[in-house]
Amino acid sequence: MPWLALTLALTLLGSFLEPTRSAVRLLAPPLAALAGAALLWRAGPTWRGAAVGHLLFATAEAGWAYGRWSGQGLALSWADGAALAGCLAWVYTLIRLPGRRFPQLSLWFYLPLIAMMAGLSLLNPGVGVLLGYSFITLGLLILAMFYTDAALLGSVPEGRLLWIIGLFIATLSTHLVVGLRTSLGYEASFSPYSFVLGYVFTAVGGYLEARPRPLGLWVSALGVAGLLVSWGLLWPDLPQGSGPGRALALALSGYLTFLGVLGLLAADRNRRLQAETRLRNWAKLLEQLYQIAPTHQTLTPHSILAKMLEVLQPFFPTLVGMGLHNDLETWVGQKTGHRYSLSLNPQTYFRGDIPDDARVTLYFSQPLEERENLEAFTPLLTERLRQTLALIEWRTQAITDPLTGLLNRRGLERHIHKLMDLARHSGKPISVAMLDLDHFKRVNDSYGHDNGDRVLQALAGVLRRHLRSEDLAVRWGGEEFALLLYGAGLQDAYLVLRRIQEELRALRVEPIPWAFTLSAGITGGQVPPSLAVLEDWLLQADWALLQAKDAGRDRVNVVEPGKPTDTQAR
Ligand code: GH3
Ligand code: MG
Ligand code: MG
Repeated sequence: MPWLALTLALTLLGSFLEPTRSAVRLLAPPLAALAGAALLWRAGPTWRGAAVGHLLFATAEAGWAYGRWSGQGLALSWADGAALAGCLAWVYTLIRLPGRRFPQLSLWFYLPLIAMMAGLSLLNPGVGVLLGYSFITLGLLILAMFYTDAALLGSVPEGRLLWIIGLFIATLSTHLVVGLRTSLGYEASFSPYSFVLGYVFTAVGGYLEARPRPLGLWVSALGVAGLLVSWGLLWPDLPQGSGPGRALALALSGYLTFLGVLGLLAADRNRRLQAETRLRNWAKLLEQLYQIAPTHQTLTPHSILAKMLEVLQPFFPTLVGMGLHNDLETWVGQKTGHRYSLSLNPQTYFRGDIPDDARVTLYFSQPLEERENLEAFTPLLTERLRQTLALIEWRTQAITDPLTGLLNRRGLERHIHKLMDLARHSGKPISVAMLDLDHFKRVNDSYGHDNGDRVLQALAGVLRRHLRSEDLAVRWGGEEFALLLYGAGLQDAYLVLRRIQEELRALRVEPIPWAFTLSAGITGGQVPPSLAVLEDWLLQADWALLQAKDAGRDRVNVVEPGKPTDTQAR
């Protein structure tokens, strides 16, 4: 910014020197070079081509100044070469700039402008290199047209209008100079100062587009001032008399100023409207994000992510996936190369149970154009995710048995629906088992409650090892557990329980010297016709377990579902 401030200050200072043409000639090269250097160092890679262009303009200006000083006039071909190459560097930059679109809006304003420029050139057709200038600057202006709509609609930073105005000024100056030089052989007293304005405006505009900051009024005032000053500077140089060239030049300057003012006003207004819309959208986003809460169906980070993706997509149409890197990796949608990771590590007071390196990653289908939007919304998203994850954690705790980490009975209520649906859809059976440690009271009595707890934890570990992901293991109470085995017939379930028994028997929990046994009752083994029946099977399995106890413990009792057994009859 200091660079640009210095350049602008020198430029304004220069316009006072305007009457002494030679001073201006000396000022033009360093000002163009300064503008180029500012672009090169501060505006990022996109604007490097334009920066080189400005350095070439500086070289050309130096050449012309030398030509005049040494009495060789303006016929220095290498200076013209540098200037034309500078224009090409700008063409290169513009082509690579984002936000090019068909000029639906600007076309109507540009058409008369282009026609007038072309008319001016036709009235005084340049020859050789002068013709080249006419063509290439007109080409630049036409190219700029494809970037103007975005500026007028306020969807790109305001700097864009400034460099477009800079191009206007430079193009107008070129066409007038070409006209003057062609028709009058006019070399002695032409002012290069409007070119300097053109250089500085394009550079400041490029800089402000690359590093956007809210400068509303300042930028607009600068744009209008630039147009007026350039007009004022060119005015005395226009050929006297009332030829069509002069009239056209006047009309062109007036029209340009009008366009500039109109464009700046439109951009300002649309930018404000956009800001308002954005604010409204943020409010809506905020509301929707806050409505995301873990419900019965969304009690997992995965479903929360899916919901968030759905809410965010209207605001970020190129967002295609989201990932969560918590204790485990979860993601929804697509993973792409254009990703942004946001830390979930709270810098604030709230820590919850979120690990320090937890991150959420957003995947986009293409590089994000308006990155500030994402940054503005980052705290909102991360805070919301953090809260939701904590809530999930909390709710999970409510349905989990703290000692064994298995589901508690409430957890079974939560999950039994899902299992029921799964079985019904896949047509696979469910077997239900109830199991209870034999003589567990002895453990507590002889080795204390803590050692008893460790036995229960060890048993839970054994159960987990023998279950599949769809199966449910529930601490039914005390040392009694319920298992719901998905896809298992009675025979399969029996074998599972036998294996559990074996592993338990082999298990040693220090300092308890003896082997543990369990008794179990199993039923089901069919596709449950209804939830009520499935719940009935639990009771039936419990009865079957009691039978196993009665029969001497350390055994697995399998009963057909629904058939009243003699135990049930009791
Ligand atoms: P059975 O073979 O008939 O099942 O005899 P048991 O001793 O295992 O059964 P009983 O119902 O007589 O005793 C169960 C014991 O389990 C009583 C209780 O102290 C103990 N218990 C229940 N919950 C816990 C617990 O969370 N931790 C510990 N250490 N013991 C528990
Ligand atoms: Mg027991
Ligand atoms: Mg018991």
